[in-house]
Amino acid sequence: MTKPRPHRHTPTCSECGEPIIWAITQAGAKQPLNPRPDLDGSVLAYKDALGAWRSRSLSAISDDTPRHPLERPYMPHAATCTPRPAPAPAPKPGRAAPPSPLPGSNVRPFRRRPRG
Ligand SMILES: [Zn+2]
Repeated sequence: MTKPRPHRHTPTCSECGEPIIWAITQAGAKQPLNPRPDLDGSVLAYKDALGAWRSRSLSAISDDTPRHPLERPYMPHAATCTPRPAPAPAPKPGRAAPPSPLPGSNVRPFRRRPRG
């Protein structure tokens, strides 16, 4: 990963590592958005006076709804997120699997040696 981040405080998605912005929806939930305005995006978002991103769904507002002058369409990150393949699960310490029997250690049934 040598892709430079646009800003060193930019949060990144834990799934794919791409930069995201955290917006707060009208319901108060946190929503990750792609950091660049996207005309195909399904939400309107803007940075409020306190520096917090506010978002609302485009489908939830009508054309005559007054818009914030800074609102731009954004794409929810979940729509474009492509999670990286998860690394192989590391064995958890302290919960080791039971030891497997060593090869060649099979106990053979006792057999009397035939007397000559
Ligand atoms: Zn992602």
